[in-house]
Amino acid sequence: MAESDPKPSHFIKETIISDLAAGKNGGRVHTRFPPEPNGYLHVGHAKSIALNFGLAAEFNGLCNLRFDDTNPAKEETEYVDSIIEDVRWLGGDFGDRLFYASDYFQQLYDWAVELIKTGKAYVCDLNAEQLRETRGTLTEPGKESPGRTRSIEENLDLFARMKNGEFPDGSRTLRAGIDMASANLNMRDPVMYRILRAEHHRTGNQWCIYPMYDWAHGQCDSIEGITHSICTLEFEDHRPLYDWYIRELGIHAPQQIEFDRLNLTYTVMSKRKLLQLVQQGLVKGWDDPRMPTLSGMRRRGYTPEGLLAFARGLGVSKTNGITELSRLEYHIREDLNKRALRVMGVLRPLKLVIDNYPEDLVEEMEAVNNPEDSSAGTRKVPFSRVLYIEQDDFREVPPKGYFRLYPGNEVRLRYGYLVRCTGVVKDPATGEVTEVHCTYDPATRGGDAPDGRRVKSTMHWVSAAHAVDAEVRLYDTLFTLESLGDVPEGRDFTEFLNPKSLETIAAAKLEPALGNTAPSARYQFERLGYFCADKESAPGRPVFNRTVALRDTWAKIEKRG
Ligand code: ATP
Ligand code: MG
Repeated sequence: MAESDPKPSHFIKETIISDLAAGKNGGRVHTRFPPEPNGYLHVGHAKSIALNFGLAAEFNGLCNLRFDDTNPAKEETEYVDSIIEDVRWLGGDFGDRLFYASDYFQQLYDWAVELIKTGKAYVCDLNAEQLRETRGTLTEPGKESPGRTRSIEENLDLFARMKNGEFPDGSRTLRAGIDMASANLNMRDPVMYRILRAEHHRTGNQWCIYPMYDWAHGQCDSIEGITHSICTLEFEDHRPLYDWYIRELGIHAPQQIEFDRLNLTYTVMSKRKLLQLVQQGLVKGWDDPRMPTLSGMRRRGYTPEGLLAFARGLGVSKTNGITELSRLEYHIREDLNKRALRVMGVLRPLKLVIDNYPEDLVEEMEAVNNPEDSSAGTRKVPFSRVLYIEQDDFREVPPKGYFRLYPGNEVRLRYGYLVRCTGVVKDPATGEVTEVHCTYDPATRGGDAPDGRRVKSTMHWVSAAHAVDAEVRLYDTLFTLESLGDVPEGRDFTEFLNPKSLETIAAAKLEPALGNTAPSARYQFERLGYFCADKESAPGRPVFNRTVALRDTWAKIEKRG
């Protein structure tokens, strides 16, 4: 039963609790996550994974991973592999319960034959266009197919010949004989099988008829003994059909419960659209760190824990809405704050020369690895006469309220000394500041003045002679439009791609220890955000992705001084 909190927090949990109380399903809870392998998983799937695996764990149940691979034309092994990796990454524990709808093709075929024998299914000779034309509309009933009056014997014969490859693709279908006048269009003699000569990623060319998703899904759930078949709202209208099939076959009846899809601001959440971005080369692949895919988020540095905290915090409802991207970033930041080691890196370097610091001296300054976690310890960072600071941290003429470095002002170099700006060197041609000069107070080693005098700013730095160069990639939202559901008629969503979604800094300067970072190592670059080493990093030449910025850094640091 539920571990700590006995009060149900949403309607799906409530349903499960009352089913358990009523002794339904012999006290079992068995869910499944059923992706179609036609693309990489996205953050919307994380919501479904968190829900299905989370409920199973909470109620001592099981959750299967099942590929709904009924559409050979769009499905590939690459997608299967990536989905397994992503589900595991999010901690989805499916044990040895990895299944495929294609495992059940024979059973589904046999059940279709059973429905023909009970007069509930028939072979229809209409082609796709004719099917559409006779389907009717929301206000008009559809027309019955001539195939509906065939004898059972003839249907059995034709269906077997469909399977044996005697008819061309698309020339016939097997349909359920339900009700062409039903108010629910899904019940108007839905197609169960189509003829399609396509190689399937698992069954090869064994089949030339394939079950429709609607004919396969409920029966697959039933075969696996699923108790609660949790899916998104668009399947609500399909539920009567799923229930009809299960009833006619007289097999175990899973209970379908629908919840709202996750939508996020400034991004798309559809494998079809994400595929379009990949195929048109508008992003650098499925795992481009700007993509809302789990592989993109992983590469960008998002943690599974942060994503799960986000997904769980969403709850479930019966209406689709849109969630702020900032809410996701909040959870990622919260998680990284606890675990990421702090380091110093300068994105846009400006030379700072300490005129009174000995030429040859290098001091090893002690720096705290994570103020949130004392067990992370400290490290040594080299300090010398010539440093790099951020261009932003110096102004020749400070605007009002600017407390960082400007001529005459004193600031703290984190873990270093207090320094006072004495002047600048400029490029005579352009007038651009090329060096800032300062003096340091040797009595302030570590950053505190013995006389208690205070400075208003603490700045990060790296020693110029020791720094390693790194490529750093900064990201903005993938789209400029807040709600991609609002793309105006006649325009394509790709027109709203953000041209500034990626900014590459070719030569940022980092602490020397970051020169040989393992890909996917995560750090907080002090005052700049959380960063993750990219898979394109090479020894001595790291590449970092900014995972997420530190929203309120300035406020915190300047108060501390
Ligand atoms: P897409 O439109 O992106 O292809 P889908 O619903 O076709 O999504 P499936 O592979 O069929 O993708 O999805 C597997 C499971 O994940 C389904 O149960 C589906 O309902 C759920 N799911 C998909 N997208 C979302 C989303 N945005 N929010 C919550 N659950 C989702
Ligand atoms: Mg789908």
